[in-house]
Amino acid sequence: MSLAENLETIQSRIRAACARAGRAEDSVTLLAVSKSHPPETICALADCGQIFFGENKVQEAKVKIPLCPGKLRWHFIGHLQSNKVRDAVELFQMIQGVDSLALAQEINKRAEQTGKTVPVLLEVNVAGEASKFGYAPEKLRAELNELNALPRLDVHGLMAIPPFSPAPEKSRPYFQRLRELKVACENILGAPLPQLSMGMSGDFEIAIEEGATMVRVGTALFGPRISTLRRALDAAD
Ligand SMILES: *Cc1c(COP(=O)(O)O)cnc(C)c1O
Repeated sequence: MSLAENLETIQSRIRAACARAGRAEDSVTLLAVSKSHPPETICALADCGQIFFGENKVQEAKVKIPLCPGKLRWHFIGHLQSNKVRDAVELFQMIQGVDSLALAQEINKRAEQTGKTVPVLLEVNVAGEASKFGYAPEKLRAELNELNALPRLDVHGLMAIPPFSPAPEKSRPYFQRLRELKVACENILGAPLPQLSMGMSGDFEIAIEEGATMVRVGTALFGPRISTLRRALDAAD
């Protein structure tokens, strides 16, 4: 399958999931997760009309973004270290994955220095996994007003990465939990949070049924990542 065909397939699956959920077709944004893929591949997908791309390493993005068309929109979807915040604020139009007040304050400080306001999503550790980053729901509720008061941060919503399972239905309760937490956050803030970033290659349709406004799809669009291939080859040695 070509990139163009993969994109068309994903888009039609997104439309079908929206229809099943009684949602408008344009209520879901596709974020193409291009980590590990070269700029030529990103440009080829951009030529097919894809605009939103996600990267999870600042160093990699710093090399790749200048080699890609200027009209693209870049979202940081990884764990952001404080010494990379300055670059991230310059490179990305949105930082998904803010998971502490300290990180939020650092983003706020760097944004102020460059005269920007940075749209962010707050990452939630929906299954309480020790191996994952993200806010525990109680902690998020407790810190939300303080996060929202940072003048250079624009809190657009929540994101989460549920535990991996080959059975997409297993993700559904976590997606529901994130949606409910968004409602709780809206009540605390007294204002709507427009974005719910959830769902990846294996489970994005379930995520849409549960209210995702952004799905982050890598493998189903681009095929396996180089690093994944390398691991598979190493394992075969
Ligand atoms: C890699 C990654 C994705 C995409 O995963 P696929 O299973 O390849 O679609 C989505 N979200 C985040 C945060 C990621 O790191």
